[in-house]
Amino acid sequence: MLLKIISTGHPVLRQHARELILEEIRSSWIQDLIAHMRDTMHDAPGVGLAAPQIGEPLQLAVIEDKAEYHKNLTEAELHERERRPVPFHVIINPRIELLSEPDRAFHEGCLSLPGFMAIVLRARKVRVTCLDERGARKTIEASGWYARILQHEIDHLNGRLYIDRMKSESFSTLENYQRHGKAS
Ligand code: ZN
Repeated sequence: MLLKIISTGHPVLRQHARELILEEIRSSWIQDLIAHMRDTMHDAPGVGLAAPQIGEPLQLAVIEDKAEYHKNLTEAELHERERRPVPFHVIINPRIELLSEPDRAFHEGCLSLPGFMAIVLRARKVRVTCLDERGARKTIEASGWYARILQHEIDHLNGRLYIDRMKSESFSTLENYQRHGKAS
């Protein structure tokens, strides 16, 4: 089932999302929500989707970076972004620790700001502790593009959007990014 993705300006995107308890995580409500978020992320398509983006202020996000999304990037672009496929997974109640300075400058976009991109400085390496979709505790050590996705999605759970962190002079339509912006 596809869910409606909320665009910027809606207050749910600016709320601090609440944590889920184990009982909720295992409920059909949350299990169904995860399945619908997965469908919605694939349909968009996107590499991550946080619950506030579909109108639920909950500490829950889904992530998947498929190899097929990389076909418009050159080997050099994939290499400098350290972008590799990431299998589907769920993060719940995450805590993030930046293991390096936010000094990696690349354009990113967001399904809640369709049609735009901007340069955002992100840490190359992060450590995330969270629960998975069964409520099991896990620790993720990520680098490169996957670390960027985690930072972006966890920002959503804290009411933040990339436009809060972007280099504002780089803010661009997707069309102009493809035409002029890729080199910057
Ligand atoms: Zn986003």
